[in-house]
Amino acid sequence: MSDVFFADMRASAHRGMPAKLGALFDQAGLGDIIHPGDLVAIKTHFGERGGSAFVPSFYLRTLVEKVKEAGGKPFLTDAGTLYVGSRANACDHIRTAAMHGFDLATVDAPIIIADGLVGGDFVEVEIAGRHFQKVKIASAAAYADALLAVSHLTGHEVSGFGAAMKNIGMGLGSRGGKQQMHSDMRPRVDDTRCNACARCLRWCPAEAISIRGEGKDKSASIDESVCIGCGECTAMCVEGAISIRWGSQPQTVQEKIAEYAAGVLKDKGGHAAFFNFLMHISPACDCWDFSDAPIVPDIGILCSRDIVAIDRASVDLVAQAAPIKDSRAGDMSAGQEKFSGLTPVAWAPQLEHAEWLGLGNQKYTLIKI
Ligand code: SF4
Ligand code: SF4
Repeated sequence: MSDVFFADMRASAHRGMPAKLGALFDQAGLGDIIHPGDLVAIKTHFGERGGSAFVPSFYLRTLVEKVKEAGGKPFLTDAGTLYVGSRANACDHIRTAAMHGFDLATVDAPIIIADGLVGGDFVEVEIAGRHFQKVKIASAAAYADALLAVSHLTGHEVSGFGAAMKNIGMGLGSRGGKQQMHSDMRPRVDDTRCNACARCLRWCPAEAISIRGEGKDKSASIDESVCIGCGECTAMCVEGAISIRWGSQPQTVQEKIAEYAAGVLKDKGGHAAFFNFLMHISPACDCWDFSDAPIVPDIGILCSRDIVAIDRASVDLVAQAAPIKDSRAGDMSAGQEKFSGLTPVAWAPQLEHAEWLGLGNQKYTLIKI
């Protein structure tokens, strides 16, 4: 049974949500996992351009101040994306972060892209996984003395939901690591919906898509031997003509994400903690260039040293909440598990496999501060 500390959304004079975030840090005893002089990675998601639901920078500033109080040297970090977007290389990524309010002036800590200029800076970490014996972890995360993961809870097309596990597992894999995790996903084109507009060709990082055929028979075609399974094309087709072929693939991807999380945490020796923000809980990943309406009202912030417990508690709190009527969960009810109703993907494998790997425990005690 692991402790998960919970700050709800109620606030009062001198006790706004940033102050409650600091109180979570204290209550969880996180000052003890940071030694003077430690390089402390604060992993977050700076938001894809067009998105609006990522964790705002002033919360990160609160954690930067707490880390400094403990004697640590904090830096904000994320690794580059596999897909073509506004965070695919370090230059674009840092500019996007600044556009969204994350820079030295606002958070009082440097922004370091963990896997370098184009995703090639990584450390191979040995793990005892079902899929991997070695994983490619973004080097700044691997070399940091301690890690705080700041995660925004969302629905997710591959993992059912995205929170701490997804944030550090997928998020701190290098570009090659992300390819390894996605390698079981292969989308297909529905010829009857494709109008051969070629939009997906521009977004495919592997140049795996071409337009085939003539006249009204023209449509996109994916070369499976070249496709790296990033899934970007599924989001970019406005006709809904490209879909992922599911089967057992989401389970495999989720297990691989958990194994990458194991690699991130392996050398941290317990010097890691997790904050999940249950605010503007959008139905899809923050990697999209939009954020749809939240599915439930804001719930609060969770903190734990157990990555499995905090993610399970996050899902459970959303299940208890009443849905927002004008959202994708509008026809659900309070007490109903929400994420499995948003996508055809079961989310349990990521947590079950993480337990099998020894990363944590789905049983928890929720402690309201
Ligand atoms: S974006 Fe969609 S409609 Fe356009 S070519 Fe690609 S699959 Fe076809
Ligand atoms: S065809 Fe494959 S590599 Fe290209 S965008 Fe789609 S999933 Fe990614």
